[in-house]
Amino acid sequence: MSQLAKRKNWLINEIKWSDASGTHLEDKPTDIREIIETNLAKGAVDLLGNPIRKYLEHTLKDICANLEVKVSFRMNELNEKRMPDELLNELKSKINKSSKELQAQMPIIDRIINSNILGNLLSHDNRFSPKLGDLKAFWADLNAMEKLFYCQDAACKKPVLVKHYDTVKKRIRCGCDKTNYDWK
Ligand SMILES: [Zn+2]
Repeated sequence: MSQLAKRKNWLINEIKWSDASGTHLEDKPTDIREIIETNLAKGAVDLLGNPIRKYLEHTLKDICANLEVKVSFRMNELNEKRMPDELLNELKSKINKSSKELQAQMPIIDRIINSNILGNLLSHDNRFSPKLGDLKAFWADLNAMEKLFYCQDAACKKPVLVKHYDTVKKRIRCGCDKTNYDWK
């Protein structure tokens, strides 16, 4: 039931029970995307830093793996914080080498790289105090980037994979071939 409702953009809360609070709704939606969208809607800027950073990292790691973007592996905590920045730049150089059609979409990726939100998310001190409008714009850009690399057809929703390289057409594609790009 909840999976169906989520597809209609309903916000799902489970009714929980505990000794302390009796019957209650869970404080936070479980899905990280829902957390972000709920907090954006509420204007809860201080609750957005961590989930947006996690979402960005996860999405970038996934896109880079799907496009076989090579990145150097690093161990320590500080370098982990630098990860999104590095992944974005490696992704960019891979696109520049491989695809004219994706190159044409580069302004989306450049907006993320140049956003002061990215700097804020990755900064070493933990104060996170961006403007709500900037956060909304950043989230819109993240969604736009995602749309490039994941098929938007409801029956597919699959990522564009280098694994699906068509050696005759010289193109990469999603699961259903509605989303595809030139690639070399
Ligand atoms: Zn598709």
